[in-house]
Amino acid sequence: MSSPTDALQRLRRVHEDAVLSTLRAAGALSRAQLTERTGLSRTTMFAIVSGLLERGVLIETEGSAAEPRGRGRPAALVSLNPDAGLLLGLDLGRNRVRLAVANAAHQVVATASADLPGDAGPEEEAETAVRLVLEGAAGRGLSLGALEAIGLGLVGVVDDPPPQVAAVPARYEPLARRLEDEFGVRLAVDNNARLAALAEATWGVGRSVRDMVYVRWSIGVGGGFITGGRLLRGAHGAGGEVGHVSLDPEGPPCHCGSRGCLEGRAGGRGLLEACAARGVSLPALDALVAAAQDRVPVVCDVVASAAADLGRVLAGTVTQLDPALVVIGGELAGLGSLVLDPIRDAIARQALPRSPREIAVVPADLGVNASAMGAIALLLHEEPSIPAHLRPAVP
Ligand SMILES: [Zn+2]
Repeated sequence: MSSPTDALQRLRRVHEDAVLSTLRAAGALSRAQLTERTGLSRTTMFAIVSGLLERGVLIETEGSAAEPRGRGRPAALVSLNPDAGLLLGLDLGRNRVRLAVANAAHQVVATASADLPGDAGPEEEAETAVRLVLEGAAGRGLSLGALEAIGLGLVGVVDDPPPQVAAVPARYEPLARRLEDEFGVRLAVDNNARLAALAEATWGVGRSVRDMVYVRWSIGVGGGFITGGRLLRGAHGAGGEVGHVSLDPEGPPCHCGSRGCLEGRAGGRGLLEACAARGVSLPALDALVAAAQDRVPVVCDVVASAAADLGRVLAGTVTQLDPALVVIGGELAGLGSLVLDPIRDAIARQALPRSPREIAVVPADLGVNASAMGAIALLLHEEPSIPAHLRPAVP
């Protein structure tokens, strides 16, 4: 159970988030304008702004004549401190950890990555991630004293809305603890395929649409849905798991507990097995992608058939969600029309709404740093979430 002090701290954080997100959108505002726009009481708002000024998160500037205070001099304006507000995105993948850094103006100013050994335990992952952040910042002359928050992308189901560290799956607790100890800032977490979707919707190919289906096709088959401009997380943190739609209830067991999942056929391992069964042994997914680029017939055949399977699943998703755009990311998306055409065909044949409103199926824009960038987008976009125990009770 959390103490009343915890509850007050959380409430203050919710209020701070409201002030910061309002200033992010608006630039500089007077305290009176902030009070009006956030809906906070004048007293609360003044206390929150004072605290943020003291910590150097906000700066105070001379107001313009456009906002006079009575007869005298104009009201002072507060804005985000451009030397503060550094945001970090960390993407903890299966064998790499990637870092993206954004400044207060939301520009991604640095990216970096480090290998994770296949047998890395949670402690080693945590040390690698912290080292990557420290070295990445030092190498680019960035001061981590200006760090405001860290977004974290993880493999697997991430339950509960961020920004609550409690949402970190048990396997990642050492990482979350280590990041909190080392940097002492807010941590928000989500599934890294969903974060890639959020990044594409924020900075990438989906930035002009409000409804988008994203699939990351790689070793795993993950995804994320943007509906009405918001990332759909689901009630249990499993929203967007297109790879675990079952194509055959009698099929081979999947690590998720179901049978015959799309990921078993179309994921990297399934593709390598299918090629091997037809006499083409390849060591890893990158070799398979290279062989497909070289137009090795068996490999092209296996990949195109998996793309048709993925297309059939996406036809269902498109019918149910009615997106403006279907975005394909991950290594397999680099194969262009070999994978995109079978997906387009399946959607065109099976999905509502049918022509003339054709659903565009396009490759992703952002490449390997998409999830790390999405972790930053998560920090920028999430409305401050009020912890359950602070919400008004339902009468
Ligand atoms: Zn599954």
